[in-house]
Amino acid sequence: MVTKVIPIRMSGSRAAAPAFAGGPLADTRARPMRDLRISVTDRCNFRCTYCMPREVFDSSYKFLPHEAILSFEEIARLARIFVGLGVEKIRLTGGEPLVRRDVHRLVSMLHDLNVEITLTTNGSLLAKQAQALARAGLNRVTVSLDSLDDATFRAMNDADFPVAKVIEGIDAASAAGLDPIKINMVVKRGVNDQGILAMAERWRGTGHIVRFIEFMDVGSTNGWRMDDVVPSAEVVRRISERWKVEPVGANYAGEVAERWRYVDGGGEIGVISSVTQAFCATCNRMRLSTEGSLYTCLFAQSGFDLKSLLRGGASDDEMRNEIAAVWQKREDRYSEVRTAETAKAKKVEMSYIGG
Ligand code: SAM
Repeated sequence: MVTKVIPIRMSGSRAAAPAFAGGPLADTRARPMRDLRISVTDRCNFRCTYCMPREVFDSSYKFLPHEAILSFEEIARLARIFVGLGVEKIRLTGGEPLVRRDVHRLVSMLHDLNVEITLTTNGSLLAKQAQALARAGLNRVTVSLDSLDDATFRAMNDADFPVAKVIEGIDAASAAGLDPIKINMVVKRGVNDQGILAMAERWRGTGHIVRFIEFMDVGSTNGWRMDDVVPSAEVVRRISERWKVEPVGANYAGEVAERWRYVDGGGEIGVISSVTQAFCATCNRMRLSTEGSLYTCLFAQSGFDLKSLLRGGASDDEMRNEIAAVWQKREDRYSEVRTAETAKAKKVEMSYIGG
């Protein structure tokens, strides 16, 4: 059934529109929709213990069948509609986006929307694909790397994957012009937090930006406990004891990472503090799952089925109205109201919804 919505005036054209005609689309807390994350696959070649624990995502786990996942053509059509509603940045993620065949083809399809296209990857297949992605129009890449210590990294990715190969991927991305590269380290107390300084030191002076992420209670399978979280304030304190750092203003409204720079000119780092300093108030992200459901929060319990509309023959205008209605009704602020109890709630997995 089609939801009743406040109608939106259309441009009537399929060309990329800067925003929808009625002014910025806002949710119930006056947050605009600017950032679209698209999960292109729910599969991953890693089994990071905090994200896709092997006990759950084992050989009997039922990943989505091919026919259930959106095709590149379907994704591109939806992306164009989102851009018409004000989205300025698209991030491809997953799962591991580079395990989906020919992702560069999707990038080139999104390229003519004239918005920033980025991709988050574990880096394992980046050395092979960086050039093709850059040529297709990818603007930047974020690479996840939780430790420089090979044994720690292999244990955390639980796929016995070596650090050196990820660094090869980062170097290849840099050579392909995908700079500055953001390097994401999820910090878990007692697991990899002893490597914070080594990570900062390795990338100081390279122009790449390490971002230290607080371990979050996404999904329902990662066994999250507050005791495992290393607050960003502690990360900054530990780094500042070695190199003096000072805060830097956000690049744009709604930026997730809080930025810091080395006073000696060694570049900058970021901290992402979803747990200790919720940034729901400025969250402008919409997520499109691998099978075409819309999620207005990373910690959501359910989504809006856009694929049925898409495959049921809905016009662009109908889908635009549905998407707008989902955003206009949005109330989410999970990280502001998180408790030990909410953390136990059944939430959609990050590998499915897109990190
Ligand atoms: N496979 C890609 C990758 O490894 O970057 C993209 C998907 S992954 C889900 C996106 C990001 O989410 C990664 O940087 C990952 O470390 C982070 N992540 C996953 N689970 C997390 C958690 N529980 N808390 C914080 N970050 C998490």
